[in-house]
Amino acid sequence: MDIDKDCIHHFPSLWMETASEPDVSVPLDGDTSAEIAIVGEGFTGLCCAISLADAGRDVVLIDGGGPGWGGSGRNSGAVIRGFKMGRTALSERFGETGDAMFEFGTRNAEMLYGLVERFGIDCQLRKTGWVLPAHNAAGLRSVQDRHATWVKDGVTGVELLDRQETAKAVGSDAYIGGLIDRECGVLQPFSYARGLARAAHSLGVRVYGQTRVTHKTYSGGHWYLQTPAGKIKAKTVVIATDAWTDKLEPRMSDRMVSTHSQIVATAPLPPSIADSLLPEGPCASDSRRILLYWNKTPDNRIVFGTRGKVDGPKTDGDFAHVEKAMVALYPALKGAKITHRWGGRIGLTRDFMPRIDQPQPGLWTAHGYSGRGVAMGTAFGLLMGEAIAANRSTSTLPVPVGPAPDLPPKFTHRAGIVRATLWYRLLDRWM
Ligand SMILES: Cc1cc2nc3c(=O)[nH]c(=O)nc-3n(C[C@H](O)[C@H](O)[C@H](O)COP(=O)(O)OP(=O)(O)OC[C@H]3O[C@@H](n4cnc5c(N)ncnc54)[C@H](O)[C@@H]3O)c2cc1C
Repeated sequence: MDIDKDCIHHFPSLWMETASEPDVSVPLDGDTSAEIAIVGEGFTGLCCAISLADAGRDVVLIDGGGPGWGGSGRNSGAVIRGFKMGRTALSERFGETGDAMFEFGTRNAEMLYGLVERFGIDCQLRKTGWVLPAHNAAGLRSVQDRHATWVKDGVTGVELLDRQETAKAVGSDAYIGGLIDRECGVLQPFSYARGLARAAHSLGVRVYGQTRVTHKTYSGGHWYLQTPAGKIKAKTVVIATDAWTDKLEPRMSDRMVSTHSQIVATAPLPPSIADSLLPEGPCASDSRRILLYWNKTPDNRIVFGTRGKVDGPKTDGDFAHVEKAMVALYPALKGAKITHRWGGRIGLTRDFMPRIDQPQPGLWTAHGYSGRGVAMGTAFGLLMGEAIAANRSTSTLPVPVGPAPDLPPKFTHRAGIVRATLWYRLLDRWM
């Protein structure tokens, strides 16, 4: 991870500029020690720290940027609950824990809402639902199948929408039907990440930013994390670095494709335009494989994202496809001023499922949310913290555990990711 070369320096996000929570992190200054050291101040690391601190543990958090510097502060803010698989598929794939996984996934948005309320996090949380519109007949079949599976699995709060209802919910007649999950929501993600850091800090966690861990070693029953500013000694280390993992833990980085997703935000729109777009305020992401995702902020901006350049954007022109897709959906936005453009990495596993892993004794990792880490990263972090505090084995956890599946060799190369993206785009057009 080369922080200095990251696209966020050229393309600061709307969220960074409008954050309402303070930054409680300070740079590390000299050697220190703790019972547990967590690398990564995204939702995973921050929530893990909160549950460990709740259990009375001595914790340090450390990040090369700071709270929310990675995906957690750059995403579109959609709080979407659940794993991508239904109850039956989870049981077929993961055996007897499948049922517990399904229940855990379905509760993950609730866990996030609980933290926001408990710590009074000022992050513009709106429980306005998530709309999944279908872009073609195959997309509609998949949306209908998903709805039928959820209903069979006992999930409440999910409704199918016909063509007119979808057009009304989205504010565009580009879709042929869809569904809404009313238990989902949307928030300002950078403020949420900073609010979690403030909460962890208030529970006694030391929060260090601008301090990159360059490598880790294990000796005499302790881990040592080396940084340019000093060494951190800890009995237990948690690596919560997701798509930015690099070589700090190869068992994560070798099993994850890291590619970029990019977002644009309009200036606040006049009510004559804004009122008809997402009138009830849900977030939306459509049925394409290379999906479009968007929402409306409380000050009436449209925040709109889709796939990015594999290595991240370099110029404003690298966002042209995002703006084009937004205007195709909402012609009224032609000529609307774009005030912010930004991007971030997404960590994809082969089966698009996240994992909690214990590569060595005293070393824990969680990663691979595959574009769905707002609620799931929160829930995984809380769960991992509870498991460490209670000395639980990973095999008892209601989530996929162990290393993610190996990637096919071609997917570890840039050219392979580009080819796969093109292939999925073609499939989106045909089926
Ligand atoms: C553009 C975009 C849009 C998205 N939209 C959504 C959405 O709407 N809904 C949703 O659910 N998910 C979305 N996601 C995915 C979601 O943001 C991520 O899954 C989630 O934030 C991952 O959280 P995390 O805590 O595991 O990792 P991150 O938030 O990525 O945090 C990892 C941290 O590790 C730090 N780090 C890495 N290496 C080191 C090191 N060596 N030393 C010190 N620190 C290090 C980084 O600085 C970073 O802060 C989106 C992602 C992107 C990029």
